[in-house]
Amino acid sequence: MTKARRKTRRVEETPSIEWEPHRPPKGGILRIRATSCCGAYELASLGGQYFVLRPTSDGGHEETGRGMYAHAAKVFITLASEHWCAADQPLII
Ligand SMILES: [Zn+2]
Repeated sequence: MTKARRKTRRVEETPSIEWEPHRPPKGGILRIRATSCCGAYELASLGGQYFVLRPTSDGGHEETGRGMYAHAAKVFITLASEHWCAADQPLII
């Protein structure tokens, strides 16, 4: 008797990215796990959940990708890899 080989197919999906205001709860420790170039995005964790933060113009933060590590990390990598960094551009005086 032969075992049928189960073929698995990995489907690379681009996570949907919707930003919402980050409202840190009282208590808990916010941990930054990774930071993209120039601090545009940060992979953070708080209370067992992971998410991606980005700064807002008013000094606050927005978040996206909240969930398990694998999901948030995928969102972080997607954003960081698509990031066009103004800091990499030559300074023109
Ligand atoms: Zn950058």
